[in-house]
Amino acid sequence: MTKRVPLIAGNWKLNHGGPSSCALALDVVRGLAAGAFPRGSVEVVLAPPFTALAAVSATLEEEAASLSVPVEVAAQNLYPVDEGAFTGEVSAPMLLDAGCKWVIIGHSERRQLFGETDEGVEAKVSAALRAGLRPIACVGETWEERSAGSTLEVIRRQVSAFAAALAAQPGVGVIAYEPVWAIGTGQVAGPDEAQAVHAAIRAQLAEINQQFADVTRLLYGGSVKPDNARGLLACPDIDGALVGGASLKASAFVGIAAATLPEG
Ligand code: PEP
Repeated sequence: MTKRVPLIAGNWKLNHGGPSSCALALDVVRGLAAGAFPRGSVEVVLAPPFTALAAVSATLEEEAASLSVPVEVAAQNLYPVDEGAFTGEVSAPMLLDAGCKWVIIGHSERRQLFGETDEGVEAKVSAALRAGLRPIACVGETWEERSAGSTLEVIRRQVSAFAAALAAQPGVGVIAYEPVWAIGTGQVAGPDEAQAVHAAIRAQLAEINQQFADVTRLLYGGSVKPDNARGLLACPDIDGALVGGASLKASAFVGIAAATLPEG
């Protein structure tokens, strides 16, 4: 049985400039150091806004020696072309340059507010992988889709857009299942509900290749807090969390990371 190291990622969205991002990153690092996490027990990713990426990467680099938990930086988006006349956009090589190792792609806010499509998400996942960035590809159904009983169909369609791209580099990319109705609402999916969708995603990946399915980490996102994280993270197909609101408070975010450890 493949051991998938739990991954806890914090999406800071449109919050924090450079100095306050660095201060929050340092608080997370210190919280993790105080938490006595065994080496290799968990991995952490922080996703500040574009303007803070380089500063947070430099801060984490300085702290790296004191960390038993790897803490790496993610961008929240990219443009799928490396360079050219695309005013205002940021490419995968530029993100690497700023110290990123990861990039969140296809978050529901990007799909809903900025019109991102499944095809666009696939192009971004492929661009990230081509450049050597690790994508965290997001999928999730709306409340209306869930109420209509089409959750698994929607998730299958969203995953199928980028699954082949991820399968070309098994274990590099991650998929985050984030029910749209659970994001920022306090209305978390129950462990059984979330596990059922994660199991369906893993079965879909196994249709491509069993080893790919076994090594791909599947994160749950949507109102994860320290007090509900343990139940979710105990599910066999939930390999970590993508955290929004609670990632803006170091103690809460570290508390979620601690929920990956055995109790006691
Ligand atoms: C998110 O935006 O990815 C998210 C999961 O937000 P929250 O934790 O606030 O629901």
